[in-house]
Amino acid sequence: MPVTMPRMGNIHIPFKALFEGLGIDYIMPPPNTQRTMTLGTKHSPEGLCIPFKMTLGNLIEALELGADKLLVPGGYGICRLGYYFKTQAQILQDIGYSFEMIPVGVSERKFLGIMEIVRRLSNNAPWAKIVSSFRFGIAKMNALDNVERKVHRVRPVEAVRGTANRIYARAVAAIDRAPDYRGLKTAVSGSLAELDGVARNEARPMVVGITGEFYVVLEPFSNLDVENELGKLGVEVRRSTFISEWMKFSLFLNPLGINEKKRVQRAAAPYLNRDIGGDGWESVGEKVLHAGKYDGIVHLAPFTCMPEIIAQNIMPHTEEQIPVLTILCDEQLAKPGMLTRLEAFVDLLERKRRVAAGTAKAN
Ligand code: SF4
Repeated sequence: MPVTMPRMGNIHIPFKALFEGLGIDYIMPPPNTQRTMTLGTKHSPEGLCIPFKMTLGNLIEALELGADKLLVPGGYGICRLGYYFKTQAQILQDIGYSFEMIPVGVSERKFLGIMEIVRRLSNNAPWAKIVSSFRFGIAKMNALDNVERKVHRVRPVEAVRGTANRIYARAVAAIDRAPDYRGLKTAVSGSLAELDGVARNEARPMVVGITGEFYVVLEPFSNLDVENELGKLGVEVRRSTFISEWMKFSLFLNPLGINEKKRVQRAAAPYLNRDIGGDGWESVGEKVLHAGKYDGIVHLAPFTCMPEIIAQNIMPHTEEQIPVLTILCDEQLAKPGMLTRLEAFVDLLERKRRVAAGTAKAN
């Protein structure tokens, strides 16, 4: 009875470490591709958001490979995500698959809820073994995010385009393969050293925040690899969400008492003082909080996502002024159109910086 879960960014790597550590039979679906999107779109109601369609397509691919226990996000919440697993189960049954769907309600029982599900999947492995496998999975997630943060800084200034991406691909594979903490440490330190050694140009890159809905921010296929495209245009990106941070703030009590999510929500309060579901509240807060630090913001919003539609409408009216480019992500989003918009946005930011520099000199 192999278990699976939809892909999103690199999240399959820590889960693979967790499942392997506990001897759980698992099947990871292939990376998201056009086929995933086509399958998901074909079987979904048209008006649903891209996370629904992509995860459905990815579950079908995993079922084709033989998986029959499906781990999917669930739980309560203001957006429709909490109900998606029921609709997806109905669609998959109608197509003719048999499986067990296991909703993971991270909002209710947080870390403990996930541990209990994992314990059941592992045929009641001892808690000590579960905790130790979990810790190793989290260490892999932290490692992946640390390397990726560095890639974001190197990509816009690398002398030879593509160098950081090549190192990153090798780093992800090495972290995935690492059998223990020692191997993991070697993989990370080697990759960071390689990135430090990349030949760079003298440019002072534009800094652009990437914010928006969780899935489209974290899954490069759904946003047509926007971070990489901005890097190629000489832009350093600062992503609002990393899975390792999200786990810290959403699954555990933060031991230091600093909750970044709360800080972002407080920043949004003058314009929006309640949760509107998904990540809409945080999208507004990111703009307000970072207006003085970033040159601009790229806001990724799934088409028909109500929380991000609300955020999109508030953003132009905040006192904190900073250019925002909202990109609506769905199956109709095409690369040439997106690149044209990114290039125009970056041109605008460069001109704004030149004007600001000229004004400062004149004064
Ligand atoms: S937040 Fe938006 S995109 Fe995400 S699941 Fe909810 S409705 Fe869909």
